[in-house]
Amino acid sequence: MRTVKLQAPAKVNYRLDVLRKRPDGYHDLRMVMQRIDLCDEIAITLHDQPGIQVTCGREGVPDGPGNIAWRAADALFKISGKQAGVSIAITKQIPVAAGLGGGSSDAATVLMGVNDLLQLGLSEERLMEIGVKLGADVPFFIFKKTALAEGIGEKLSPLDGLPAAWLVLVNPNVPVSTAWVYQNLQLTTRQNEYNIPRFCGSIAEICAMLSNDLEAVTIRRFPVIQEIKERLLSVGASGALMSGSGPTVFGVFADEVAARNAAAVLSRAGEWFVTAVKTL
Ligand code: ATP
Repeated sequence: MRTVKLQAPAKVNYRLDVLRKRPDGYHDLRMVMQRIDLCDEIAITLHDQPGIQVTCGREGVPDGPGNIAWRAADALFKISGKQAGVSIAITKQIPVAAGLGGGSSDAATVLMGVNDLLQLGLSEERLMEIGVKLGADVPFFIFKKTALAEGIGEKLSPLDGLPAAWLVLVNPNVPVSTAWVYQNLQLTTRQNEYNIPRFCGSIAEICAMLSNDLEAVTIRRFPVIQEIKERLLSVGASGALMSGSGPTVFGVFADEVAARNAAAVLSRAGEWFVTAVKTL
């Protein structure tokens, strides 16, 4: 039996523009995606008995075939024609249904991990093609770089040179369904004139791009998100934004001490999940 332990990082969106609704029901997006060092742990064990087992033990996350990690392994076995036995144990650290891409990252990590363990030899590009069928954010976690993501999230190009930042994540512990947010989004016909800079040299430039078209939808349902944004700014964040479809909000800080101090202040009330993280 061979076991590997892998880290599946979360992401935030520095920017999320919804450009248009497509005939297939998805939306064309333009996003700036950044990985952070808040990670789930994925332990993958190969064994002789064929079949896939997934255990997670976190409320709100299914074990077995309902788990996106199970579907990732299943897709890989079907495509490669290899029927091995694999057990996947997920230790969740990333809040669930939180706009942090936790499920997508778990799936990407299983695709890459099983590809390596079984020496399937599938290219990164092929893994991304398999991944996008599991979830629109999965290819980004296989890409493993800060990225401009277009299409439904699968057209990725690297954004080099963004400075490392410290972020404080605040999650008010209300799960938000991504599907619900898109159903309640009212698209305007406004032209998005903003050009995403290919190079950002400073924290101020990161803050200048912060914008999320989904934020207003989620804030209408959960006004606490607006309150969290204001609290983050009041404890020293240079900018604050909801990530993905929410409800997690992140504040941007220039250094670790400022971020940890802010996280300590916001943790005091005890009702929110608060943590300081570094960009990857
Ligand atoms: P995104 O930012 O990509 O929209 P999210 O962070 O909002 O993702 P997830 O944490 O990925 O959302 O979870 C969405 C749903 O997927 C949950 O309702 C959960 O039950 C289900 N799910 C299935 N497998 C997993 C997994 N491995 N981790 C988290 N959620 C999972």
